[in-house]
Amino acid sequence: MIPIARPLLDETEAEAARQAVLSGWVTQGPQVAAFEREFAETVNAAHACAVSSCTAALHLALLAVGVRLGDEVVTVSHSFIATANAVRYCGAKPVFVDIDPLTCNLDPDRLQPAITTRTRAILCVHQMGMPCDLARILTIARAHDLPVIEDAACAIGSEVRLAGTWERIGKPHGDIACFSFHPRKILTTGDGGMLTTANPEWDRMFRLWRQHGMDIPDTVRHGAREVSVESYPVLGFNYRMTDIQAAIGRKQLGRLSELVARRRSLARRYRALLADIPGLAPPCEPWWARSNWQSYCVRLPANVDQRAVMQRMLDDGVATRRGIMCAHREPAYAEDAPRFALPASERAQDRRILLPLYAQMTEDEHTRVVEALKDGCGYRRRISACQSGRSPRGACAR
Ligand SMILES: *Cc1c(COP(=O)(O)O)cnc(C)c1O
Repeated sequence: MIPIARPLLDETEAEAARQAVLSGWVTQGPQVAAFEREFAETVNAAHACAVSSCTAALHLALLAVGVRLGDEVVTVSHSFIATANAVRYCGAKPVFVDIDPLTCNLDPDRLQPAITTRTRAILCVHQMGMPCDLARILTIARAHDLPVIEDAACAIGSEVRLAGTWERIGKPHGDIACFSFHPRKILTTGDGGMLTTANPEWDRMFRLWRQHGMDIPDTVRHGAREVSVESYPVLGFNYRMTDIQAAIGRKQLGRLSELVARRRSLARRYRALLADIPGLAPPCEPWWARSNWQSYCVRLPANVDQRAVMQRMLDDGVATRRGIMCAHREPAYAEDAPRFALPASERAQDRRILLPLYAQMTEDEHTRVVEALKDGCGYRRRISACQSGRSPRGACAR
């Protein structure tokens, strides 16, 4: 069975976790602090704050820029549901704009009309690791004096071209970027998240909020020679990352370049092999983007049924997933759904599938995926039927 994804974890991470356990300090402590420093350095950010998940990071990012009850946040429906959920945690409403059907990312042409007097922030997503059109989004945001939060859950190691240079996602280029370390992403700590920002005041608030609003961190109290009494100036949460997770994360971070290089090489090979399938569209990497290929998402030929293709591939031992979900189609969003017409988002969910991609994938497994996809699209059958003279020649034409 070829899975959709597989985290790269071995003795290196197991040993790091073991050491963290044996150190006696298991939650947010020295490993978290070191992971934050190394992460900030990796993405060239002034501040990085570790939290329990990207969802927690999105929640705190929205709070930091002032999203409150009754506000609107412009974002995409075509994302994992956590993106929209985080807006609702603040009592605000997500206003969904459609995607560019080629890149599956927020269509900047649709951004301006979605902005109202109630808009408090723009939450853009680097979907599947493909950087969205930050240059255009930032221009529109600045014209309206709106903060931009980047949902970079999938985008560690991806690069964006801005002002003539390539830079890693996470500096951040907007105001705050949020990353995930769920096992489906490029780097994993089991679960976990990270916020990056250039704003020291927001970074200070993240650190308060993640630990119940407590104004003296445990690390400081633990080392103190004098009795100190903490206070709780704000309503906080428990969004801590553990030191066990951070110890694993530091080892994962050390693999980033190697993991991304391997994924890019597999993505290139997919593109070459998939060129054989008529009507199938590989993902589009626009000129401003270098993806880390967190997911490899293809558009199926018009004449095939998505579910049937996925089932045939599963029967052949290859796991796939449908295109990225649309939050507005879920019951949890039924109340507001009628407000939105999002045809490109819905088509991407219904007409695309995600193919397996992970760093340890062998060429043999990779080829098997392509063969299973050809089978699923009925392509190989058509070829062999044609070769055996049972079908009109035209059926083989590209
Ligand atoms: C995975 C993902 C999230 C949620 O990340 P968690 O760490 O699981 O909370 C949010 N947004 C996007 C786009 C994602 O892919």
